[in-house]
Amino acid sequence: MHRIAQLDHKHVWHPFTQMRDWLKEEPIVIASGRGAVLRDVHGNEYLDANSSIWTNLHGHAHPKINSAIQQQLKKISHSSALGFASEPASLLAEKLAKAASPRNRKPQTKLEKVFYSDDGSTAMEVALKLAYEFARRSGRSKNPRFLSLEGAYHGDTVGAVSLGHIDLFHKAYSGLLFKTDKVAAPYCYRCPYNRAQPERGDARDYRKCNFECVKLVEQKFAAQRKTKNPYAAMVVEPLMQGAAGMIAQPEGWLKRVAEIIRSDGAQLIADEVMTGFGRTGFPSGLRTRNPKLEPLFACHKEDVQPDFLALAKGMTGGYLPMAATLTTQKVFDAFLGEYADFKTFFHGHSFTGNQLGSAAALASLEILQSRESDSARRSLQQNLRDELQQLWRLENVGDIRQVGLVAGIELVKNWRTREPFALRVRAGIRVCEAMARRGVLTRPIGNVIAILPPYCTTGKQLAKIISALGESVEENFKK
Ligand code: PMP
Repeated sequence: MHRIAQLDHKHVWHPFTQMRDWLKEEPIVIASGRGAVLRDVHGNEYLDANSSIWTNLHGHAHPKINSAIQQQLKKISHSSALGFASEPASLLAEKLAKAASPRNRKPQTKLEKVFYSDDGSTAMEVALKLAYEFARRSGRSKNPRFLSLEGAYHGDTVGAVSLGHIDLFHKAYSGLLFKTDKVAAPYCYRCPYNRAQPERGDARDYRKCNFECVKLVEQKFAAQRKTKNPYAAMVVEPLMQGAAGMIAQPEGWLKRVAEIIRSDGAQLIADEVMTGFGRTGFPSGLRTRNPKLEPLFACHKEDVQPDFLALAKGMTGGYLPMAATLTTQKVFDAFLGEYADFKTFFHGHSFTGNQLGSAAALASLEILQSRESDSARRSLQQNLRDELQQLWRLENVGDIRQVGLVAGIELVKNWRTREPFALRVRAGIRVCEAMARRGVLTRPIGNVIAILPPYCTTGKQLAKIISALGESVEENFKK
Protein backbone atom coordinates (compact mmCIF):
# COMPACT_ATOMS: atom_id res chain seq x y z
CA MET A 1 0.00 0.00 0.00
CA HIS A 2 1.24 3.50 -0.81
CA ARG A 3 2.86 5.31 2.13
CA ILE A 4 0.25 8.06 2.11
CA ALA A 5 -2.60 5.55 2.01
CA GLN A 6 -1.09 3.88 5.07
CA LEU A 7 -0.98 7.17 6.94
CA ASP A 8 -4.55 7.88 5.92
CA HIS A 9 -5.66 4.48 7.21
CA LYS A 10 -3.85 5.02 10.45
CA HIS A 11 -5.13 8.50 11.25
CA VAL A 12 -7.77 10.07 9.03
CA TRP A 13 -11.46 9.72 9.82
CA HIS A 14 -13.38 10.44 6.61
CA PRO A 15 -16.70 12.30 6.39
CA PHE A 16 -19.92 10.39 5.73
CA THR A 17 -17.90 7.17 5.49
CA GLN A 18 -18.27 3.76 7.11
CA MET A 19 -14.67 3.51 8.20
CA ARG A 20 -14.78 -0.29 8.51
CA ASP A 21 -15.40 -0.47 4.75
CA TRP A 22 -12.86 2.26 4.08
CA LEU A 23 -10.10 0.38 5.90
CA LYS A 24 -10.62 -2.74 3.78
CA GLU A 25 -9.13 -1.27 0.62
CA GLU A 26 -6.36 1.01 -0.48
CA PRO A 27 -7.94 4.43 -1.07
CA ILE A 28 -7.39 6.48 -4.18
CA VAL A 29 -4.90 9.14 -3.07
CA ILE A 30 -5.31 12.25 -5.16
CA ALA A 31 -2.02 13.94 -5.93
CA SER A 32 -2.93 16.61 -8.46
CA GLY A 33 -5.62 17.94 -10.74
CA ARG A 34 -5.88 19.88 -13.98
CA GLY A 35 -9.10 20.88 -15.67
CA ALA A 36 -11.64 18.09 -15.22
CA VAL A 37 -8.93 15.49 -14.54
CA LEU A 38 -7.67 14.25 -11.19
CA ARG A 39 -4.46 12.23 -10.93
CA ASP A 40 -3.57 9.81 -8.13
CA VAL A 41 -0.20 9.01 -6.57
CA HIS A 42 0.27 6.08 -8.97
CA GLY A 43 -0.25 8.32 -12.01
CA ASN A 44 -3.77 7.03 -12.79
CA GLU A 45 -6.14 9.65 -14.19
CA TYR A 46 -9.81 10.11 -13.39
CA LEU A 47 -12.52 12.47 -14.54
CA ASP A 48 -13.95 14.49 -11.67
CA ALA A 49 -17.62 13.79 -12.44
CA ASN A 50 -18.98 15.45 -9.30
CA SER A 51 -16.62 18.44 -9.27
CA SER A 52 -15.06 17.28 -5.97
CA ILE A 53 -18.34 17.12 -4.08
CA TRP A 54 -20.03 19.91 -6.07
CA THR A 55 -17.42 22.55 -5.39
CA ASN A 56 -15.28 22.99 -8.48
CA LEU A 57 -16.56 25.26 -11.23
CA HIS A 58 -13.93 25.92 -13.90
CA GLY A 59 -11.61 22.96 -13.46
CA HIS A 60 -8.62 22.30 -11.24
CA ALA A 61 -5.48 24.44 -11.36
CA HIS A 62 -7.20 27.10 -13.42
CA PRO A 63 -4.45 29.57 -14.42
CA LYS A 64 -6.54 32.66 -13.58
CA ILE A 65 -7.54 31.47 -10.11
CA ASN A 66 -4.05 30.15 -9.39
CA SER A 67 -2.59 33.49 -10.38
CA ALA A 68 -5.13 35.48 -8.32
CA ILE A 69 -4.23 33.45 -5.23
CA GLN A 70 -0.51 33.81 -5.92
CA GLN A 71 -0.85 37.60 -6.30
CA GLN A 72 -2.80 37.80 -3.06
CA LEU A 73 -0.23 35.57 -1.28
CA LYS A 74 2.41 38.20 -1.94
CA LYS A 75 0.33 40.72 0.02
CA ILE A 76 -1.33 38.80 2.85
CA SER A 77 -3.15 35.49 3.33
CA HIS A 78 -5.39 36.41 6.20
CA SER A 79 -6.20 39.20 8.58
CA SER A 80 -9.24 39.37 10.78
CA ALA A 81 -12.57 40.80 9.67
CA LEU A 82 -13.26 41.43 13.36
CA GLY A 83 -12.11 45.01 13.50
CA PHE A 84 -10.61 45.42 10.01
CA ALA A 85 -11.68 45.65 6.39
CA SER A 86 -9.78 44.20 3.45
CA GLU A 87 -9.59 44.91 -0.26
CA PRO A 88 -10.50 41.49 -1.68
CA ALA A 89 -13.39 40.93 0.75
CA SER A 90 -14.85 44.38 0.00
CA LEU A 91 -14.49 44.01 -3.78
CA LEU A 92 -16.04 40.56 -3.62
CA ALA A 93 -19.00 41.76 -1.55
CA GLU A 94 -19.76 44.37 -4.21
CA LYS A 95 -19.64 41.74 -6.98
CA LEU A 96 -21.76 39.22 -5.06
CA ALA A 97 -24.34 41.87 -4.20
CA LYS A 98 -24.59 42.85 -7.85
CA ALA A 99 -24.95 39.27 -9.08
CA ALA A 100 -27.58 38.56 -6.43
CA SER A 101 -29.69 41.63 -7.21
CA PRO A 102 -30.98 41.61 -10.77
CA ARG A 103 -31.49 45.03 -12.35
CA ASN A 104 -35.25 44.86 -12.54
CA ARG A 105 -35.51 44.49 -8.78
CA LYS A 106 -36.99 47.03 -6.42
CA PRO A 107 -34.32 48.52 -4.13
CA GLN A 108 -35.82 47.00 -0.98
CA THR A 109 -35.41 43.47 -2.36
CA LYS A 110 -31.75 43.91 -3.23
CA LEU A 111 -29.35 41.62 -1.42
CA GLU A 112 -26.62 44.13 -0.72
CA LYS A 113 -25.41 43.02 2.69
CA VAL A 114 -22.88 40.22 2.72
CA PHE A 115 -21.98 38.24 5.84
CA TYR A 116 -18.99 35.97 5.25
CA SER A 117 -18.41 32.58 6.81
CA ASP A 118 -16.58 29.34 6.07
CA ASP A 119 -18.80 26.75 4.38
CA GLY A 120 -22.35 25.86 3.43
CA SER A 121 -23.33 24.87 6.95
CA THR A 122 -22.15 28.12 8.50
CA ALA A 123 -23.75 30.16 5.71
CA MET A 124 -27.03 28.49 6.64
CA GLU A 125 -26.48 29.03 10.37
CA VAL A 126 -26.06 32.73 9.68
CA ALA A 127 -29.27 32.87 7.61
CA LEU A 128 -31.12 30.99 10.32
CA LYS A 129 -29.94 33.19 13.18
CA LEU A 130 -30.57 36.40 11.26
CA ALA A 131 -34.06 35.31 10.23
CA TYR A 132 -34.81 34.21 13.78
CA GLU A 133 -33.75 37.49 15.30
CA PHE A 134 -35.40 39.52 12.55
CA ALA A 135 -38.73 37.79 13.18
CA ARG A 136 -38.46 38.60 16.88
CA ARG A 137 -37.32 42.17 16.47
CA SER A 138 -39.89 43.00 13.82
CA GLY A 139 -42.59 41.77 16.20
CA ARG A 140 -43.67 38.97 13.86
CA SER A 141 -43.01 36.18 16.32
CA LYS A 142 -41.82 35.67 19.89
CA ASN A 143 -40.90 32.11 19.14
CA PRO A 144 -39.84 32.01 15.48
CA ARG A 145 -40.47 28.79 13.66
CA PHE A 146 -39.15 27.52 10.34
CA LEU A 147 -40.53 25.42 7.53
CA SER A 148 -38.33 23.31 5.27
CA LEU A 149 -38.77 20.54 2.75
CA GLU A 150 -38.90 16.80 3.18
CA GLY A 151 -35.52 15.37 2.31
CA ALA A 152 -33.92 18.75 3.03
CA TYR A 153 -30.21 18.90 3.76
CA HIS A 154 -28.62 22.20 4.71
CA GLY A 155 -25.38 21.14 6.39
CA ASP A 156 -24.09 19.37 9.46
CA THR A 157 -23.92 21.99 12.18
CA VAL A 158 -26.71 21.75 14.73
CA GLY A 159 -28.84 24.60 13.36
CA ALA A 160 -28.48 23.37 9.79
CA VAL A 161 -29.27 19.82 10.89
CA SER A 162 -32.42 21.11 12.61
CA LEU A 163 -33.58 22.40 9.24
CA GLY A 164 -32.80 19.06 7.63
CA HIS A 165 -35.15 16.15 7.16
CA ILE A 166 -33.05 13.17 6.10
CA ASP A 167 -33.65 10.62 8.85
CA LEU A 168 -30.52 8.63 8.06
CA PHE A 169 -28.31 11.64 8.82
CA HIS A 170 -30.42 13.58 11.28
CA LYS A 171 -32.51 11.29 13.46
CA ALA A 172 -29.69 10.20 15.76
CA TYR A 173 -29.21 13.81 16.83
CA SER A 174 -32.86 14.70 17.33
CA GLY A 175 -32.24 15.23 21.04
CA LEU A 176 -29.82 18.02 20.19
CA LEU A 177 -32.01 19.80 17.69
CA PHE A 178 -34.73 22.43 17.74
CA LYS A 179 -38.06 21.61 16.16
CA THR A 180 -38.79 22.67 12.59
CA ASP A 181 -41.72 21.77 10.37
CA LYS A 182 -41.49 19.96 7.10
CA VAL A 183 -43.65 19.87 4.02
CA ALA A 184 -43.59 17.54 1.04
CA ALA A 185 -41.06 18.47 -1.61
CA PRO A 186 -41.99 17.95 -5.22
CA TYR A 187 -40.52 14.56 -6.12
CA CYS A 188 -42.22 14.04 -9.45
CA TYR A 189 -40.87 10.55 -10.09
CA ARG A 190 -42.50 9.29 -6.90
CA CYS A 191 -45.37 11.75 -6.80
CA PRO A 192 -48.39 10.39 -4.93
CA TYR A 193 -50.77 12.53 -7.03
CA ASN A 194 -49.51 12.39 -10.57
CA ARG A 195 -50.74 9.46 -12.59
CA ALA A 196 -48.27 9.56 -15.49
CA GLN A 197 -47.25 6.07 -16.55
CA PRO A 198 -43.66 5.02 -15.90
CA GLU A 199 -42.82 4.49 -19.54
CA ARG A 200 -39.58 5.35 -21.23
CA GLY A 201 -39.54 8.84 -22.57
CA ASP A 202 -42.81 9.41 -20.81
CA ALA A 203 -41.30 9.00 -17.38
CA ARG A 204 -40.83 12.76 -17.22
CA ASP A 205 -44.25 13.58 -18.60
CA TYR A 206 -45.86 15.47 -15.80
CA ARG A 207 -48.49 17.28 -17.80
CA LYS A 208 -51.18 16.07 -15.46
CA CYS A 209 -49.52 17.98 -12.65
CA ASN A 210 -51.92 20.12 -10.62
CA PHE A 211 -49.24 21.27 -8.19
CA GLU A 212 -50.83 19.47 -5.24
CA CYS A 213 -47.46 19.82 -3.47
CA VAL A 214 -47.83 23.62 -3.68
CA LYS A 215 -51.24 23.34 -2.05
CA LEU A 216 -49.59 21.45 0.82
CA VAL A 217 -47.26 24.40 1.34
CA GLU A 218 -50.24 26.74 1.33
CA GLN A 219 -51.99 24.60 3.93
CA LYS A 220 -48.92 24.55 6.17
CA PHE A 221 -48.73 28.34 6.14
CA ALA A 222 -52.44 28.69 6.81
CA ALA A 223 -52.32 26.23 9.74
CA GLN A 224 -49.33 27.97 11.25
CA ARG A 225 -50.99 31.40 10.95
CA LYS A 226 -53.89 30.09 13.00
CA THR A 227 -51.52 29.42 15.92
CA LYS A 228 -50.83 33.19 16.02
CA ASN A 229 -47.18 32.34 15.54
CA PRO A 230 -46.71 32.57 11.77
CA TYR A 231 -43.59 31.10 10.20
CA ALA A 232 -40.48 33.27 10.36
CA ALA A 233 -39.16 31.78 7.14
CA MET A 234 -39.27 28.92 4.73
CA VAL A 235 -36.00 27.35 3.66
CA VAL A 236 -35.66 26.03 0.13
CA GLU A 237 -32.99 24.68 -2.16
CA PRO A 238 -34.26 26.27 -5.37
CA LEU A 239 -34.85 24.19 -8.51
CA MET A 240 -33.11 21.09 -7.22
CA GLN A 241 -32.62 19.45 -3.84
CA GLY A 242 -29.08 18.05 -3.92
CA ALA A 243 -28.45 15.69 -1.03
CA ALA A 244 -32.09 14.59 -1.07
CA GLY A 245 -31.15 12.76 -4.30
CA MET A 246 -30.89 15.44 -6.99
CA ILE A 247 -34.62 15.99 -6.91
CA ALA A 248 -35.73 18.53 -9.47
CA GLN A 249 -38.69 20.81 -8.90
CA PRO A 250 -41.15 21.14 -11.77
CA GLU A 251 -41.03 24.50 -13.53
CA GLY A 252 -43.21 26.99 -11.69
CA TRP A 253 -43.03 25.31 -8.28
CA LEU A 254 -40.54 27.79 -6.85
CA LYS A 255 -42.41 30.82 -8.14
CA ARG A 256 -45.70 29.61 -6.69
CA VAL A 257 -44.13 28.79 -3.33
CA ALA A 258 -42.37 32.15 -3.22
CA GLU A 259 -45.73 33.86 -3.74
CA ILE A 260 -47.23 31.95 -0.80
CA ILE A 261 -44.30 32.97 1.39
CA ARG A 262 -44.60 36.59 0.28
CA SER A 263 -48.32 36.85 0.86
CA ASP A 264 -47.88 35.32 4.32
CA GLY A 265 -45.22 37.89 5.18
CA ALA A 266 -42.62 35.24 5.99
CA GLN A 267 -39.11 35.30 4.59
CA LEU A 268 -37.53 33.06 2.01
CA ILE A 269 -34.13 31.56 2.74
CA ALA A 270 -32.58 30.22 -0.45
CA ASP A 271 -29.86 27.65 0.08
CA GLU A 272 -27.86 27.94 -3.13
CA VAL A 273 -24.83 26.18 -1.73
CA MET A 274 -25.13 23.55 -4.47
CA THR A 275 -27.25 25.35 -7.07
CA GLY A 276 -25.44 28.69 -7.12
CA PHE A 277 -22.86 30.13 -9.54
CA GLY A 278 -24.32 28.85 -12.77
CA ARG A 279 -24.79 25.21 -11.79
CA THR A 280 -28.45 25.15 -12.73
CA GLY A 281 -27.68 26.45 -16.20
CA PHE A 282 -29.64 28.79 -18.40
CA PRO A 283 -33.34 29.54 -18.57
CA SER A 284 -34.82 27.79 -21.58
CA GLY A 285 -35.22 30.00 -24.62
CA LEU A 286 -33.77 33.11 -23.03
CA ARG A 287 -30.41 34.40 -24.15
CA THR A 288 -28.93 37.77 -23.42
CA ARG A 289 -26.04 39.14 -25.43
CA ASN A 290 -24.16 39.92 -22.28
CA PRO A 291 -22.97 36.99 -20.12
CA LYS A 292 -22.79 39.39 -17.17
CA LEU A 293 -26.57 39.62 -17.21
CA GLU A 294 -27.21 35.88 -17.24
CA PRO A 295 -28.63 34.67 -13.93
CA LEU A 296 -26.02 32.90 -11.82
CA PHE A 297 -28.48 31.75 -9.20
CA ALA A 298 -31.28 29.21 -9.44
CA CYS A 299 -33.85 31.56 -7.85
CA HIS A 300 -33.46 34.09 -10.61
CA LYS A 301 -34.26 31.51 -13.25
CA GLU A 302 -37.82 31.66 -11.90
CA ASP A 303 -37.62 35.37 -11.26
CA VAL A 304 -37.74 34.83 -7.50
CA GLN A 305 -35.80 37.08 -5.15
CA PRO A 306 -35.09 35.54 -1.73
CA ASP A 307 -34.56 37.46 1.52
CA PHE A 308 -31.49 35.40 2.34
CA LEU A 309 -29.12 33.77 -0.11
CA ALA A 310 -26.64 31.23 1.24
CA LEU A 311 -23.57 30.62 -0.93
CA ALA A 312 -20.52 28.39 -0.49
CA LYS A 313 -18.97 25.45 -2.41
CA GLY A 314 -18.45 27.00 -5.87
CA MET A 315 -18.02 30.53 -4.53
CA THR A 316 -14.22 30.33 -4.69
CA GLY A 317 -14.37 28.21 -7.83
CA GLY A 318 -14.12 25.29 -5.42
CA TYR A 319 -10.64 26.26 -4.26
CA LEU A 320 -10.98 27.34 -0.66
CA PRO A 321 -13.51 27.04 2.15
CA MET A 322 -15.39 30.30 2.11
CA ALA A 323 -19.08 31.16 2.21
CA ALA A 324 -21.47 34.09 2.31
CA THR A 325 -24.99 34.87 3.41
CA LEU A 326 -26.54 37.77 1.55
CA THR A 327 -29.53 39.69 2.84
CA THR A 328 -31.49 42.92 2.56
CA GLN A 329 -31.05 46.38 4.02
CA LYS A 330 -34.18 45.79 6.08
CA VAL A 331 -32.71 42.81 7.90
CA PHE A 332 -29.43 44.68 8.34
CA ASP A 333 -31.24 47.66 9.86
CA ALA A 334 -32.86 45.48 12.51
CA PHE A 335 -29.41 44.96 13.99
CA LEU A 336 -28.51 48.66 14.21
CA GLY A 337 -28.56 50.54 17.49
CA GLU A 338 -26.47 52.18 20.18
CA TYR A 339 -23.57 50.05 21.38
CA ALA A 340 -25.22 49.52 24.73
CA ASP A 341 -28.46 48.36 23.07
CA PHE A 342 -26.58 45.18 22.19
CA LYS A 343 -28.44 44.75 18.94
CA THR A 344 -25.18 43.64 17.33
CA PHE A 345 -25.19 40.37 15.42
CA PHE A 346 -23.00 38.42 17.82
CA HIS A 347 -21.71 35.87 15.37
CA GLY A 348 -18.47 35.36 13.44
CA HIS A 349 -15.62 33.03 12.65
CA SER A 350 -11.85 33.45 12.80
CA PHE A 351 -11.48 33.18 9.04
CA THR A 352 -14.46 35.36 8.12
CA GLY A 353 -13.68 37.30 4.93
CA ASN A 354 -10.39 35.49 4.32
CA GLN A 355 -8.31 37.30 1.68
CA LEU A 356 -7.07 34.25 -0.24
CA GLY A 357 -10.61 32.91 -0.50
CA SER A 358 -11.90 36.31 -1.58
CA ALA A 359 -9.20 36.64 -4.25
CA ALA A 360 -10.08 33.19 -5.60
CA ALA A 361 -13.80 34.05 -5.56
CA LEU A 362 -13.22 37.31 -7.44
CA ALA A 363 -11.26 35.48 -10.14
CA SER A 364 -13.89 32.75 -10.31
CA LEU A 365 -16.70 35.28 -10.78
CA GLU A 366 -14.78 37.00 -13.55
CA ILE A 367 -14.33 33.69 -15.37
CA LEU A 368 -18.00 32.83 -14.82
CA GLN A 369 -19.11 36.09 -16.40
CA SER A 370 -16.87 35.74 -19.45
CA ARG A 371 -18.06 34.79 -22.93
CA GLU A 372 -15.83 31.70 -22.92
CA SER A 373 -17.41 30.31 -19.77
CA ASP A 374 -20.88 31.23 -20.97
CA SER A 375 -20.47 29.23 -24.15
CA ALA A 376 -18.66 26.33 -22.42
CA ARG A 377 -21.58 26.02 -20.00
CA ARG A 378 -24.15 26.12 -22.77
CA SER A 379 -22.31 23.32 -24.58
CA LEU A 380 -21.99 21.28 -21.40
CA GLN A 381 -25.70 21.66 -20.65
CA GLN A 382 -26.58 20.45 -24.17
CA ASN A 383 -23.99 17.65 -24.18
CA LEU A 384 -25.30 16.44 -20.84
CA ARG A 385 -28.85 16.43 -22.19
CA ASP A 386 -27.79 14.48 -25.30
CA GLU A 387 -25.54 11.96 -23.56
CA LEU A 388 -27.99 11.14 -20.79
CA GLN A 389 -30.57 9.88 -23.31
CA GLN A 390 -28.65 6.63 -23.85
CA LEU A 391 -29.21 5.65 -20.21
CA TRP A 392 -32.96 5.25 -20.68
CA ARG A 393 -32.22 1.91 -22.36
CA LEU A 394 -31.10 0.42 -19.05
CA GLU A 395 -33.45 -1.77 -17.04
CA ASN A 396 -32.19 -0.26 -13.78
CA VAL A 397 -32.44 3.41 -14.65
CA GLY A 398 -35.75 4.66 -13.31
CA ASP A 399 -35.44 8.40 -13.65
CA ILE A 400 -33.00 10.90 -15.12
CA ARG A 401 -33.26 14.39 -13.67
CA GLN A 402 -31.27 17.20 -15.22
CA VAL A 403 -31.29 20.84 -14.24
CA GLY A 404 -28.70 22.77 -16.23
CA LEU A 405 -25.29 21.33 -15.46
CA VAL A 406 -26.35 18.84 -12.84
CA ALA A 407 -28.00 15.48 -13.19
CA GLY A 408 -29.23 12.72 -10.91
CA ILE A 409 -29.78 9.23 -12.25
CA GLU A 410 -32.06 7.18 -9.99
CA LEU A 411 -31.33 3.45 -10.00
CA VAL A 412 -34.22 1.06 -9.39
CA LYS A 413 -34.70 -2.70 -9.41
CA ASN A 414 -36.97 -2.43 -12.42
CA TRP A 415 -37.98 0.70 -14.28
CA ARG A 416 -41.49 -0.60 -14.95
CA THR A 417 -42.37 -0.91 -11.27
CA ARG A 418 -40.08 1.85 -9.98
CA GLU A 419 -39.22 -0.47 -7.09
CA PRO A 420 -36.21 0.97 -5.27
CA PHE A 421 -33.12 -1.01 -4.36
CA ALA A 422 -32.86 -1.66 -0.63
CA LEU A 423 -30.12 0.55 0.83
CA ARG A 424 -28.17 -2.50 2.01
CA VAL A 425 -27.72 -3.55 -1.66
CA ARG A 426 -25.45 -0.49 -1.92
CA ALA A 427 -26.50 -0.07 -5.54
CA GLY A 428 -25.19 3.48 -5.84
CA ILE A 429 -21.88 2.67 -4.14
CA ARG A 430 -21.31 -0.37 -6.35
CA VAL A 431 -21.97 1.61 -9.51
CA CYS A 432 -19.62 4.39 -8.43
CA GLU A 433 -16.90 1.85 -7.59
CA ALA A 434 -17.26 0.36 -11.07
CA MET A 435 -17.10 3.86 -12.57
CA ALA A 436 -13.87 4.54 -10.65
CA ARG A 437 -12.36 1.41 -12.24
CA ARG A 438 -13.22 3.04 -15.57
CA GLY A 439 -11.51 6.29 -14.64
CA VAL A 440 -14.55 8.33 -13.54
CA LEU A 441 -15.08 9.55 -9.99
CA THR A 442 -18.39 10.52 -8.41
CA ARG A 443 -20.26 9.78 -5.21
CA PRO A 444 -23.76 8.36 -4.97
CA ILE A 445 -26.62 9.71 -2.89
CA GLY A 446 -28.25 6.44 -1.88
CA ASN A 447 -29.44 4.97 -5.18
CA VAL A 448 -28.95 8.16 -7.13
CA ILE A 449 -25.78 8.77 -9.14
CA ALA A 450 -24.88 12.45 -9.17
CA ILE A 451 -23.23 13.87 -12.28
CA LEU A 452 -22.09 17.48 -12.11
CA PRO A 453 -18.76 17.89 -13.82
CA PRO A 454 -16.61 21.03 -13.90
CA TYR A 455 -17.74 23.55 -16.49
CA CYS A 456 -14.59 22.97 -18.58
CA THR A 457 -15.51 19.30 -19.20
CA THR A 458 -15.27 18.62 -22.95
CA GLY A 459 -17.82 16.72 -25.03
CA LYS A 460 -15.42 13.78 -25.22
CA GLN A 461 -14.86 13.73 -21.46
CA LEU A 462 -18.58 13.89 -20.81
CA ALA A 463 -19.21 11.02 -23.23
CA LYS A 464 -16.71 8.98 -21.23
CA ILE A 465 -18.44 9.85 -17.94
CA ILE A 466 -21.86 8.78 -19.17
CA SER A 467 -20.69 5.63 -20.93
CA ALA A 468 -18.76 4.61 -17.78
CA LEU A 469 -21.98 5.10 -15.84
CA GLY A 470 -24.02 3.02 -18.30
CA GLU A 471 -21.46 0.20 -18.38
CA SER A 472 -21.17 0.21 -14.59
CA VAL A 473 -24.93 -0.16 -14.16
CA GLU A 474 -24.97 -3.05 -16.66
CA GLU A 475 -21.99 -4.74 -15.04
CA ASN A 476 -23.57 -4.67 -11.60
CA PHE A 477 -27.11 -5.68 -12.38
CA LYS A 478 -26.74 -8.09 -15.29
CA LYS A 479 -29.55 -10.60 -15.32
N1 PMP B 1 -26.55 23.20 1.73
C1 PMP B 1 -26.55 22.42 0.66
C2 PMP B 1 -27.65 22.54 -0.34
C3 PMP B 1 -25.53 21.49 0.46
O1 PMP B 1 -25.55 20.70 -0.62
C4 PMP B 1 -24.49 21.40 1.40
C5 PMP B 1 -23.35 20.42 1.27
N2 PMP B 1 -23.51 19.36 0.43
C6 PMP B 1 -24.54 22.25 2.51
C7 PMP B 1 -25.57 23.15 2.64
C8 PMP B 1 -23.45 22.23 3.53
O2 PMP B 1 -22.28 22.72 2.99
P1 PMP B 1 -20.87 22.40 3.64
O3 PMP B 1 -20.61 20.94 3.43
O4 PMP B 1 -19.92 23.28 2.88
O5 PMP B 1 -20.95 22.77 5.09
